Amino acid sequence: MPLYEVAVAAPLPGSLTYSHPQRLPVGIRVLVPLGSRLVVGYVLAQLPEAEEAVSIKAVADCLDAYPVFPAQLIPFFRWMAEYYHHPIGEVIRTALPAGLSGTSSGAAAKAKTETVVRLCAPLSDQPVAALKKSEQKTLELFYQCCGGSPVMPRRELTKLYSGATGALKGLAAAGLITLEERHVYRDPFGELLPYSDRPAELTAEQTAAVSALSTAIDAGAFQTFLLHGVTGSGKTEVYLRATEHCLAQKKNVLVLVPELALASQMEGQFYSRFGERLAVLHSGLSAGERFDQWQRILRGEAKVAVGARSAVFAPFAGLGLVIVDEEHEAAYKQDDGLRYNGRDMAVLRARFASCPVLLGSATPSVGSFYHAEQGKYRLLALPKRIGGQVMPTVELIDLSKEKRGRKENWFFSDRLLAALKENLAANLQSLLFVNRRGYAAFMLCRDCGAVVRCRNCRVSLTLHRGRNQLICHYCGYTLRPDIICPDCGSGDVAGLGLGSERVEAEVRRLFPEARVARLDSDATGSRREQLAVLRQVREQEIDILVGTQMAAKGLHFPKVTLVGVVWADSGLSLPDCKAAERTFQLLAQVTGRAGRGELAGKVIIQTHQSSHYVLTAARAHDCRAVYEQEIALRSMLGYPPFGRLINLRFSGENEMQVEAAAKAAAVLLRAVIAQNSLIADILGPAPAPLALIKNRFRWQLLLKGAQPEMLHWLCDQLLREKRKICGKKVRLTVDVDPENMM
Ligand code: ADP
Ligand code: ZN
Ligand code: ZN
Repeated sequence: MPLYEVAVAAPLPGSLTYSHPQRLPVGIRVLVPLGSRLVVGYVLAQLPEAEEAVSIKAVADCLDAYPVFPAQLIPFFRWMAEYYHHPIGEVIRTALPAGLSGTSSGAAAKAKTETVVRLCAPLSDQPVAALKKSEQKTLELFYQCCGGSPVMPRRELTKLYSGATGALKGLAAAGLITLEERHVYRDPFGELLPYSDRPAELTAEQTAAVSALSTAIDAGAFQTFLLHGVTGSGKTEVYLRATEHCLAQKKNVLVLVPELALASQMEGQFYSRFGERLAVLHSGLSAGERFDQWQRILRGEAKVAVGARSAVFAPFAGLGLVIVDEEHEAAYKQDDGLRYNGRDMAVLRARFASCPVLLGSATPSVGSFYHAEQGKYRLLALPKRIGGQVMPTVELIDLSKEKRGRKENWFFSDRLLAALKENLAANLQSLLFVNRRGYAAFMLCRDCGAVVRCRNCRVSLTLHRGRNQLICHYCGYTLRPDIICPDCGSGDVAGLGLGSERVEAEVRRLFPEARVARLDSDATGSRREQLAVLRQVREQEIDILVGTQMAAKGLHFPKVTLVGVVWADSGLSLPDCKAAERTFQLLAQVTGRAGRGELAGKVIIQTHQSSHYVLTAARAHDCRAVYEQEIALRSMLGYPPFGRLINLRFSGENEMQVEAAAKAAAVLLRAVIAQNSLIADILGPAPAPLALIKNRFRWQLLLKGAQPEMLHWLCDQLLREKRKICGKKVRLTVDVDPENMM
């Protein structure tokens, strides 16, 4: 009996073997017995039949007639499972769209279908005279409405003529037409997506970039390109042209964007150019829509896929080009479950598919810059803005000098206020950037200095005025804001620090005549509302937009000429080796929002650290300066790109057990290192900076070393002893190439 390798969607390290009497295609889902349960599994390979009669369990049921992913993806899945120390079945489950991922209930979204009418012979050959009146009328309607196509939806005929339903049955019985079921695709493109024209000519730099890419696409070999282009330099146009070239060669293209907010802009531009050849894949779609998009790719109807991180799994059998926009973004890293980096996996997919990969950014990551310098990546540069626009002027305002002794509005310097006023008078738009949502960052007791913390997490609660609540941004725990101090019982507890909500309130108070909107994940619950705010800004119905991170990314509004960064320092002091790099990238990105039209832009950055290299580099638009500082620091410390990191996090409800497990793991790893004379560092264990989240204590242990294979091997040695070290109560999470060590 044929045997199959099956990856089950369960926390098992490897795959399992099952038998089935009929031939099963690779890439379908099956139900298989596991212990006393039936679980979903994915067929990975047919295995040689066993010589002796070994007892192998049989596949209980097949869930698909056709593969739900192409066989070409299997080596990619296997590689990810090994690299991220994650069960292969869970890797595949993460890869498939929600409607397909199916638990043992097998509940999967069904593609929506409609009935279509197909003519069996050309209209002119139809023997019309012998037909009933209603049937003749139906055929005539078909002829008028079909636009020359032999197929049209039944619904369109029955809408026009109620007699069509019966008449079509008669026509089908007479063999003149057939009625078929066909898939319909729920259109994920709202009307909001703007149409953008194809520019007639490329700039010299764009031409050079597109031509290098075209050559690589034709060669069909793996190669990594880094497209370093300042904001507004026309990177997107390079993506579009390279995609055109690829499609002309009958090859598919995968485009990744770091998050949803950017997906819609990119979607709009790709849809304008490629229409129905485009599929989109991201979490903003309903399960049904995602399923539809997935099917369109599988069937070969869609040739280009645009999406956030998970689109890296798009089921193309072959690829001609992979594009990663804003490659430096931390958002490419998934923060739970399969902790993969979409950007890194995009590069890997290109390697498996033997095609070029294009990483684009205005502020490439330190690692990518380094690879370009080492010749591992090929650098393509767009150093100038389109149309000769100058980069905006950036002014640093030192708040510590400016505001000393002033209580009112300390977070608006006179300079920023004056600039806002000026812009308003000139009918121009302004963007104010705050990198925290809510009203006040924390609640402080003015009598004893205690900070009000979440009951479940060791973090401060944020005041949200609009909702009249104190909210924990980690677990959602809420309190009413009129609290007394938990430490001393004083009633004098006040909100300190600022968030977008407070800045918005201040702006409304200071500029009552201005039209003000806020864009953050509170104000804009849904993607629809988010798009609505963006449209208002685009149509100049908004004078001042107050936004968090979300408003900093990739938006193109020609009439925004002033950008104010209310306080640039909040990210700088985080205990994270990428804090400086990230702060610079964010400032550069925000800066890029100013002056994208005919008018020059101005940026005002408020800070307490105006001589920090990140801030002076932001003023000078100087990526290199930050890169050089960071590369020197990281080479000294052995941090990426000079070494690799794996973060091992231990968590549980009992702090002593968590600490004990983390310490036991460190002892084991140090012993293995000593026995084998390996060169690797074990940092910690120590409590995580966020030491208690959702009632779980967190400790961590960082593996650091120059040889990734060795770190992975060490990790495997630890995972073998996981039961013994962690027991049942402590959870161990392996985070390879961590982006977030909080
Ligand atoms: P980036 O992604 O680098 O920030 P965009 O691709 O958004 O820049 O380009 C900025 C603007 O310039 C867009 O409005 C785009 O349509 C336009 N643009 C790009 N390339 C050209 C070109 N060759 N000629 C004219 N306009 C262009
Ligand atoms: Zn107190
Ligand atoms: Zn909490």
